[in-house]
Amino acid sequence: MAPPAETNSLPVPWPEGAETKVHTGGCHCKKIRYEFEHPGIYEMPVVNCNCSICEDRGYLSVSTPEDKFRFTAGSEDDMTKYEFGSRKIVHRFCSTCGTSIGPSVSIKGFVVINTRTIDGVDLDRLQLRKVDGRSRYF
Ligand SMILES: [Zn+2]
Repeated sequence: MAPPAETNSLPVPWPEGAETKVHTGGCHCKKIRYEFEHPGIYEMPVVNCNCSICEDRGYLSVSTPEDKFRFTAGSEDDMTKYEFGSRKIVHRFCSTCGTSIGPSVSIKGFVVINTRTIDGVDLDRLQLRKVDGRSRYF
């Protein structure tokens, strides 16, 4: 398999007029459940970032506009906040089971979702795209 391509544009732009699918997922203890619309986690590049937090937490991320993401159980209030570095991004995780559904609830109007927390995800089918977050962010 070819190594994943680099990209400089985040969030990864959606194809114009893309039809969306509904993906569901949540944390391990099911206190936090979510659903979001997205062109398809196997059809779009998935961000494999090497910044310190993505690396430590094993994030493989996709993003969707805020209005296409909703909690179906729990909320931000059920998560613990973690900030570091420039504190530009708030990282949250389930305060009961420790699962992080994404780097934060919202960045620049987009919600970032850790694909590992999507129901039934097949990691082997993800098209990982390397992003050099370490030199760009933290
Ligand atoms: Zn949980």
